[in-house]
Amino acid sequence: MIEARKQRDDALALAVQPQGTPVTEGTDEFALINRLAALLDPPTHGIGIGDDAATWSPTPGTVTVATTDMLVEGIHFRLDWTTPEDLGWKAMAVNLSDIAAMGARPRHALVSIALKPDQAGIVIEIYKGIAAHARASGTFVVGGDTVRTDGPLTINVTLLGEADPALILRRDGARPGDVLAITGTAGGSAAGLALLSGEPTDSDPDRSRRLLAMHHRPSPRLHAGPALASLGARCGIDISDGIASETGHLARSSNVAIVIDVDAVPFHPDAVAMFGLERARTLGLNGGEDYELLVTLPLSLVDRARDAIASETTLTMIGRVVQDQHGGLVTATSGGLPFTLGAGGYVAF
Ligand code: ADP
Ligand code: MG
Repeated sequence: MIEARKQRDDALALAVQPQGTPVTEGTDEFALINRLAALLDPPTHGIGIGDDAATWSPTPGTVTVATTDMLVEGIHFRLDWTTPEDLGWKAMAVNLSDIAAMGARPRHALVSIALKPDQAGIVIEIYKGIAAHARASGTFVVGGDTVRTDGPLTINVTLLGEADPALILRRDGARPGDVLAITGTAGGSAAGLALLSGEPTDSDPDRSRRLLAMHHRPSPRLHAGPALASLGARCGIDISDGIASETGHLARSSNVAIVIDVDAVPFHPDAVAMFGLERARTLGLNGGEDYELLVTLPLSLVDRARDAIASETTLTMIGRVVQDQHGGLVTATSGGLPFTLGAGGYVAF
Protein backbone atom coordinates (compact mmCIF):
# COMPACT_ATOMS: atom_id res chain seq x y z
CA MET A 1 0.00 0.00 0.00
CA ILE A 2 2.73 2.46 1.02
CA GLU A 3 4.79 1.42 -1.99
CA ALA A 4 1.83 2.01 -4.31
CA ARG A 5 1.08 5.40 -2.76
CA LYS A 6 4.73 6.44 -3.15
CA GLN A 7 4.79 5.41 -6.81
CA ARG A 8 1.68 7.40 -7.42
CA ASP A 9 2.87 10.46 -5.53
CA ASP A 10 6.22 10.42 -7.36
CA ALA A 11 4.50 10.26 -10.72
CA LEU A 12 2.07 13.02 -9.83
CA ALA A 13 4.83 15.22 -8.44
CA LEU A 14 6.54 14.98 -11.82
CA ALA A 15 3.29 15.77 -13.56
CA VAL A 16 2.62 18.97 -11.61
CA GLN A 17 6.21 20.28 -11.67
CA PRO A 18 6.88 21.33 -8.07
CA GLN A 19 8.88 24.42 -9.08
CA GLY A 20 5.68 25.86 -10.43
CA THR A 21 7.13 26.37 -13.88
CA PRO A 22 4.67 24.97 -16.36
CA VAL A 23 6.47 22.85 -18.92
CA THR A 24 3.41 22.53 -21.12
CA GLU A 25 -0.02 23.98 -21.45
CA GLY A 26 -2.54 22.24 -19.25
CA THR A 27 -0.82 22.28 -15.88
CA ASP A 28 -4.24 23.07 -14.37
CA GLU A 29 -5.40 19.68 -15.56
CA PHE A 30 -2.49 17.99 -13.76
CA ALA A 31 -3.18 19.95 -10.58
CA LEU A 32 -6.82 18.84 -10.70
CA ILE A 33 -5.88 15.19 -11.31
CA ASN A 34 -3.52 15.47 -8.34
CA ARG A 35 -6.33 16.72 -6.11
CA LEU A 36 -8.72 14.02 -7.32
CA ALA A 37 -6.12 11.29 -6.80
CA ALA A 38 -5.55 12.50 -3.24
CA LEU A 39 -9.21 11.72 -2.44
CA LEU A 40 -8.89 8.11 -3.59
CA ASP A 41 -7.27 5.13 -1.85
CA PRO A 42 -4.26 3.80 -3.77
CA PRO A 43 -4.52 0.15 -4.81
CA THR A 44 -2.99 -2.43 -2.48
CA HIS A 45 -1.21 -4.08 -5.44
CA GLY A 46 -0.07 -2.95 -8.87
CA ILE A 47 0.24 0.50 -10.43
CA GLY A 48 -2.55 3.02 -9.87
CA ILE A 49 -3.02 6.67 -10.81
CA GLY A 50 0.11 8.51 -11.92
CA ASP A 51 1.65 6.36 -14.64
CA ASP A 52 0.70 5.96 -18.28
CA ALA A 53 -1.53 3.02 -17.47
CA ALA A 54 -2.59 0.92 -14.49
CA THR A 55 -1.68 -2.69 -13.74
CA TRP A 56 -3.14 -5.39 -11.52
CA SER A 57 -3.09 -9.16 -11.16
CA PRO A 58 -6.35 -11.03 -11.75
CA THR A 59 -7.14 -13.67 -9.13
CA PRO A 60 -6.08 -17.01 -10.69
CA GLY A 61 -9.00 -18.95 -12.14
CA THR A 62 -11.27 -15.92 -12.56
CA VAL A 63 -12.50 -14.18 -15.68
CA THR A 64 -12.43 -10.40 -15.93
CA VAL A 65 -15.87 -8.80 -16.16
CA ALA A 66 -15.93 -5.29 -17.65
CA THR A 67 -18.65 -2.66 -17.91
CA THR A 68 -18.85 1.07 -18.58
CA ASP A 69 -21.54 3.70 -18.16
CA MET A 70 -21.58 7.38 -19.01
CA LEU A 71 -23.61 10.07 -17.26
CA VAL A 72 -24.26 13.34 -19.10
CA GLU A 73 -25.54 16.50 -17.40
CA GLY A 74 -29.04 17.40 -18.58
CA ILE A 75 -29.65 13.86 -19.86
CA HIS A 76 -28.87 11.58 -16.90
CA PHE A 77 -28.61 14.08 -14.05
CA ARG A 78 -29.38 17.67 -13.14
CA LEU A 79 -27.03 19.56 -10.85
CA ASP A 80 -30.04 21.38 -9.32
CA TRP A 81 -31.58 18.01 -8.30
CA THR A 82 -28.56 16.16 -6.95
CA THR A 83 -25.56 17.03 -4.82
CA PRO A 84 -22.26 16.44 -6.65
CA GLU A 85 -21.25 13.93 -3.97
CA ASP A 86 -24.42 11.86 -4.50
CA LEU A 87 -23.75 12.05 -8.24
CA GLY A 88 -20.31 10.52 -7.72
CA TRP A 89 -21.84 7.77 -5.57
CA LYS A 90 -24.40 7.07 -8.30
CA ALA A 91 -21.85 7.08 -11.13
CA MET A 92 -20.15 4.21 -9.28
CA ALA A 93 -23.48 2.57 -8.36
CA VAL A 94 -24.74 2.15 -11.92
CA ASN A 95 -21.53 0.31 -12.84
CA LEU A 96 -21.25 -1.69 -9.62
CA SER A 97 -24.81 -2.87 -10.19
CA ASP A 98 -23.89 -4.24 -13.64
CA ILE A 99 -20.97 -6.13 -12.12
CA ALA A 100 -23.22 -7.57 -9.38
CA ALA A 101 -25.80 -8.54 -12.02
CA MET A 102 -23.16 -10.75 -13.67
CA GLY A 103 -22.54 -12.49 -10.35
CA ALA A 104 -19.12 -10.84 -10.26
CA ARG A 105 -17.12 -8.88 -7.68
CA PRO A 106 -15.83 -5.35 -8.43
CA ARG A 107 -12.08 -4.72 -8.33
CA HIS A 108 -10.87 -1.72 -10.32
CA ALA A 109 -12.35 1.40 -11.88
CA LEU A 110 -11.26 4.00 -14.43
CA VAL A 111 -13.05 7.35 -14.27
CA SER A 112 -13.09 9.89 -17.11
CA ILE A 113 -14.58 13.34 -16.85
CA ALA A 114 -15.24 16.21 -19.25
CA LEU A 115 -15.72 19.53 -17.46
CA LYS A 116 -15.92 23.26 -18.05
CA PRO A 117 -13.01 25.27 -16.62
CA ASP A 118 -15.15 26.59 -13.73
CA GLN A 119 -16.36 23.13 -12.65
CA ALA A 120 -13.23 21.89 -10.83
CA GLY A 121 -14.89 22.46 -7.44
CA ILE A 122 -17.93 20.40 -8.45
CA VAL A 123 -15.72 17.62 -9.79
CA ILE A 124 -13.82 17.43 -6.49
CA GLU A 125 -17.17 16.98 -4.69
CA ILE A 126 -18.17 14.31 -7.22
CA TYR A 127 -14.92 12.48 -6.45
CA LYS A 128 -15.75 12.45 -2.74
CA GLY A 129 -18.84 10.40 -3.64
CA ILE A 130 -16.83 8.22 -6.01
CA ALA A 131 -14.19 7.64 -3.31
CA ALA A 132 -16.86 6.79 -0.71
CA HIS A 133 -18.52 4.19 -2.95
CA ALA A 134 -15.16 2.81 -4.09
CA ARG A 135 -14.15 2.29 -0.46
CA ALA A 136 -17.54 0.83 0.53
CA SER A 137 -17.37 -1.67 -2.33
CA GLY A 138 -13.68 -2.60 -2.13
CA THR A 139 -12.99 -1.05 -5.56
CA PHE A 140 -9.81 0.86 -6.42
CA VAL A 141 -9.91 3.75 -8.89
CA VAL A 142 -6.65 3.19 -10.77
CA GLY A 143 -6.86 5.76 -13.56
CA GLY A 144 -8.96 7.85 -15.88
CA ASP A 145 -8.87 10.90 -18.08
CA THR A 146 -9.65 14.55 -17.50
CA VAL A 147 -10.60 16.81 -20.39
CA ARG A 148 -12.07 20.24 -20.91
CA THR A 149 -15.38 20.74 -22.68
CA ASP A 150 -17.75 23.57 -23.59
CA GLY A 151 -20.57 21.06 -23.35
CA PRO A 152 -22.35 19.33 -20.48
CA LEU A 153 -20.46 17.85 -17.52
CA THR A 154 -19.85 14.20 -18.42
CA ILE A 155 -18.65 11.37 -16.19
CA ASN A 156 -17.71 7.95 -17.51
CA VAL A 157 -16.88 5.09 -15.18
CA THR A 158 -15.37 1.84 -16.45
CA LEU A 159 -15.53 -0.92 -13.89
CA LEU A 160 -13.55 -4.14 -13.95
CA GLY A 161 -14.52 -7.05 -11.79
CA GLU A 162 -13.93 -10.75 -11.64
CA ALA A 163 -15.94 -13.94 -11.38
CA ASP A 164 -15.64 -17.69 -11.49
CA PRO A 165 -16.31 -18.41 -15.20
CA ALA A 166 -18.71 -21.23 -14.29
CA LEU A 167 -20.76 -18.92 -12.07
CA ILE A 168 -21.91 -16.07 -14.30
CA LEU A 169 -25.46 -14.70 -14.24
CA ARG A 170 -26.46 -14.33 -17.88
CA ARG A 171 -29.56 -12.88 -19.48
CA ASP A 172 -29.97 -16.02 -21.59
CA GLY A 173 -29.92 -18.41 -18.62
CA ALA A 174 -33.67 -18.60 -17.80
CA ARG A 175 -35.26 -22.08 -18.13
CA PRO A 176 -38.91 -23.19 -18.05
CA GLY A 177 -39.80 -24.13 -14.47
CA ASP A 178 -37.56 -21.42 -12.93
CA VAL A 179 -39.12 -18.83 -10.67
CA LEU A 180 -38.58 -15.11 -11.26
CA ALA A 181 -37.36 -13.33 -8.13
CA ILE A 182 -36.36 -9.79 -7.19
CA THR A 183 -34.06 -8.48 -4.46
CA GLY A 184 -35.30 -5.62 -2.27
CA THR A 185 -38.21 -3.45 -3.36
CA ALA A 186 -39.40 -1.82 -6.59
CA GLY A 187 -40.37 1.74 -7.42
CA GLY A 188 -38.58 3.62 -4.63
CA SER A 189 -36.11 5.36 -6.91
CA ALA A 190 -38.74 6.30 -9.50
CA ALA A 191 -40.92 7.64 -6.66
CA GLY A 192 -37.97 9.79 -5.54
CA LEU A 193 -37.66 11.09 -9.11
CA ALA A 194 -41.41 11.80 -9.17
CA LEU A 195 -40.97 13.90 -6.02
CA LEU A 196 -38.12 15.84 -7.64
CA SER A 197 -40.28 16.40 -10.74
CA GLY A 198 -42.95 17.97 -8.53
CA GLU A 199 -45.53 15.23 -8.90
CA PRO A 200 -48.29 16.07 -6.39
CA THR A 201 -48.49 13.89 -3.29
CA ASP A 202 -49.18 14.14 0.44
CA SER A 203 -46.04 15.62 1.88
CA ASP A 204 -44.41 13.46 4.50
CA PRO A 205 -40.84 14.53 5.24
CA ASP A 206 -39.59 11.13 6.46
CA ARG A 207 -41.05 9.25 3.53
CA SER A 208 -39.79 11.87 1.08
CA ARG A 209 -36.30 11.68 2.53
CA ARG A 210 -36.22 7.90 2.19
CA LEU A 211 -37.48 7.96 -1.40
CA LEU A 212 -35.02 10.67 -2.42
CA ALA A 213 -32.23 8.58 -0.88
CA MET A 214 -33.38 5.59 -2.96
CA HIS A 215 -33.01 7.78 -6.03
CA HIS A 216 -29.73 9.52 -5.17
CA ARG A 217 -27.84 6.80 -3.27
CA PRO A 218 -28.81 3.40 -4.63
CA SER A 219 -27.21 0.32 -3.01
CA PRO A 220 -26.14 -2.13 -5.70
CA ARG A 221 -26.48 -5.75 -4.57
CA LEU A 222 -22.79 -6.54 -4.44
CA HIS A 223 -23.19 -9.49 -2.09
CA ALA A 224 -26.42 -10.90 -3.54
CA GLY A 225 -25.13 -11.13 -7.12
CA PRO A 226 -22.18 -13.46 -6.43
CA ALA A 227 -24.09 -15.27 -3.64
CA LEU A 228 -27.03 -16.13 -5.92
CA ALA A 229 -24.62 -17.21 -8.66
CA SER A 230 -22.67 -19.52 -6.36
CA LEU A 231 -25.92 -21.10 -5.14
CA GLY A 232 -26.83 -22.12 -8.68
CA ALA A 233 -28.76 -19.20 -10.20
CA ARG A 234 -27.68 -18.81 -13.84
CA CYS A 235 -29.81 -15.92 -15.03
CA GLY A 236 -29.89 -12.33 -13.82
CA ILE A 237 -30.08 -8.66 -14.75
CA ASP A 238 -30.04 -5.48 -12.73
CA ILE A 239 -33.12 -3.28 -12.68
CA SER A 240 -32.08 0.00 -14.25
CA ASP A 241 -35.25 0.42 -16.36
CA GLY A 242 -38.15 -1.11 -14.41
CA ILE A 243 -39.28 -4.70 -13.91
CA ALA A 244 -41.35 -4.93 -17.11
CA SER A 245 -38.53 -3.96 -19.43
CA GLU A 246 -35.86 -6.00 -17.60
CA THR A 247 -38.06 -9.11 -17.57
CA GLY A 248 -38.49 -8.52 -21.30
CA HIS A 249 -34.70 -8.65 -21.75
CA LEU A 250 -34.50 -11.96 -19.87
CA ALA A 251 -37.41 -13.45 -21.86
CA ARG A 252 -35.98 -12.34 -25.22
CA SER A 253 -32.41 -13.45 -24.50
CA SER A 254 -33.53 -16.81 -23.05
CA ASN A 255 -36.34 -17.42 -25.59
CA VAL A 256 -38.85 -18.14 -22.84
CA ALA A 257 -42.30 -16.94 -21.73
CA ILE A 258 -42.39 -15.34 -18.27
CA VAL A 259 -45.53 -14.53 -16.26
CA ILE A 260 -45.25 -11.81 -13.59
CA ASP A 261 -47.61 -11.96 -10.59
CA VAL A 262 -48.04 -8.22 -10.00
CA ASP A 263 -49.67 -8.85 -6.59
CA ALA A 264 -46.44 -10.51 -5.40
CA VAL A 265 -44.12 -7.62 -6.33
CA PRO A 266 -42.73 -5.86 -3.22
CA PHE A 267 -43.41 -2.25 -4.21
CA HIS A 268 -41.61 0.21 -1.94
CA PRO A 269 -43.93 0.90 1.03
CA ASP A 270 -43.19 4.64 1.02
CA ALA A 271 -43.98 4.82 -2.70
CA VAL A 272 -47.31 3.06 -2.05
CA ALA A 273 -48.09 5.31 0.94
CA MET A 274 -47.30 8.55 -0.89
CA PHE A 275 -48.54 7.81 -4.41
CA GLY A 276 -51.11 5.02 -3.94
CA LEU A 277 -50.82 1.39 -5.06
CA GLU A 278 -51.71 1.97 -8.69
CA ARG A 279 -49.08 4.69 -9.24
CA ALA A 280 -46.49 2.79 -7.17
CA ARG A 281 -47.05 -0.20 -9.45
CA THR A 282 -46.36 1.89 -12.52
CA LEU A 283 -43.26 3.40 -10.87
CA GLY A 284 -41.90 -0.05 -10.05
CA LEU A 285 -42.90 -1.90 -13.21
CA ASN A 286 -42.18 0.87 -15.74
CA GLY A 287 -39.97 3.33 -13.82
CA GLY A 288 -36.35 2.68 -13.18
CA GLU A 289 -33.06 3.03 -11.37
CA ASP A 290 -33.84 0.72 -8.48
CA TYR A 291 -30.57 -1.18 -9.10
CA GLU A 292 -32.02 -4.30 -7.54
CA LEU A 293 -31.39 -7.69 -9.13
CA LEU A 294 -33.95 -9.68 -11.10
CA VAL A 295 -32.99 -13.36 -11.31
CA THR A 296 -34.49 -16.66 -12.35
CA LEU A 297 -33.64 -19.84 -10.47
CA PRO A 298 -35.07 -23.28 -9.72
CA LEU A 299 -37.77 -23.20 -7.00
CA SER A 300 -35.72 -25.68 -4.97
CA LEU A 301 -33.00 -23.01 -4.47
CA VAL A 302 -35.22 -20.17 -3.30
CA ASP A 303 -35.12 -20.78 0.47
CA ARG A 304 -31.36 -21.18 0.51
CA ALA A 305 -30.96 -18.14 -1.75
CA ARG A 306 -33.08 -16.07 0.61
CA ASP A 307 -30.91 -17.08 3.57
CA ALA A 308 -27.69 -16.48 1.64
CA ILE A 309 -28.52 -12.83 0.91
CA ALA A 310 -30.49 -12.03 4.09
CA SER A 311 -27.63 -9.95 5.53
CA GLU A 312 -27.92 -7.58 2.55
CA THR A 313 -31.53 -7.67 1.35
CA THR A 314 -34.66 -9.71 0.76
CA LEU A 315 -35.55 -12.06 -2.11
CA THR A 316 -39.17 -12.23 -3.30
CA MET A 317 -40.69 -14.57 -5.90
CA ILE A 318 -42.67 -12.46 -8.39
CA GLY A 319 -43.29 -14.80 -11.28
CA ARG A 320 -42.49 -17.93 -13.25
CA VAL A 321 -40.77 -18.98 -16.43
CA VAL A 322 -43.58 -21.02 -17.96
CA GLN A 323 -42.31 -22.37 -21.29
CA ASP A 324 -39.88 -22.04 -24.16
CA GLN A 325 -41.00 -19.23 -26.45
CA HIS A 326 -39.04 -18.14 -29.50
CA GLY A 327 -38.37 -14.39 -29.27
CA GLY A 328 -39.57 -14.25 -25.66
CA LEU A 329 -42.88 -13.16 -24.13
CA VAL A 330 -43.80 -11.39 -20.89
CA THR A 331 -47.33 -11.34 -19.51
CA ALA A 332 -48.67 -10.37 -16.09
CA THR A 333 -51.60 -11.19 -13.84
CA SER A 334 -53.23 -9.50 -10.86
CA GLY A 335 -56.09 -10.99 -8.86
CA GLY A 336 -56.09 -13.91 -11.28
CA LEU A 337 -56.84 -11.62 -14.25
CA PRO A 338 -54.56 -10.46 -17.07
CA PHE A 339 -52.71 -7.24 -16.17
CA THR A 340 -51.44 -4.85 -18.86
CA LEU A 341 -47.79 -4.01 -18.17
CA GLY A 342 -47.70 -0.75 -20.15
CA ALA A 343 -44.78 0.67 -22.05
CA GLY A 344 -41.71 0.30 -19.93
CA GLY A 345 -38.34 1.64 -19.27
CA TYR A 346 -36.09 4.49 -20.16
CA VAL A 347 -35.80 5.39 -23.83
CA ALA A 348 -32.27 6.49 -24.65
CA PHE A 349 -32.93 7.75 -28.22
P1 ADP B 1 -1.70 10.57 -20.16
O1 ADP B 1 -1.46 11.88 -20.84
O2 ADP B 1 -0.53 9.65 -20.12
O3 ADP B 1 -2.97 9.92 -20.58
P2 ADP B 1 -2.95 11.90 -17.99
O4 ADP B 1 -2.30 13.19 -17.71
O5 ADP B 1 -4.22 11.89 -18.74
O6 ADP B 1 -1.86 10.94 -18.62
O7 ADP B 1 -3.19 11.16 -16.59
C1 ADP B 1 -2.18 11.05 -15.61
C2 ADP B 1 -2.60 9.97 -14.65
O8 ADP B 1 -3.75 10.36 -13.95
C3 ADP B 1 -2.93 8.63 -15.31
O9 ADP B 1 -2.55 7.61 -14.40
C4 ADP B 1 -4.42 8.68 -15.45
O10 ADP B 1 -4.97 7.37 -15.47
C5 ADP B 1 -4.81 9.45 -14.20
N1 ADP B 1 -6.05 10.22 -14.35
C6 ADP B 1 -6.28 11.25 -15.22
N2 ADP B 1 -7.51 11.76 -15.06
C7 ADP B 1 -8.08 11.04 -14.07
C8 ADP B 1 -9.35 11.06 -13.46
N3 ADP B 1 -10.30 11.94 -13.82
N4 ADP B 1 -9.61 10.16 -12.47
C9 ADP B 1 -8.68 9.25 -12.11
N5 ADP B 1 -7.45 9.19 -12.64
C10 ADP B 1 -7.15 10.07 -13.62
MG1 MG C 1 -4.85 10.60 -20.36
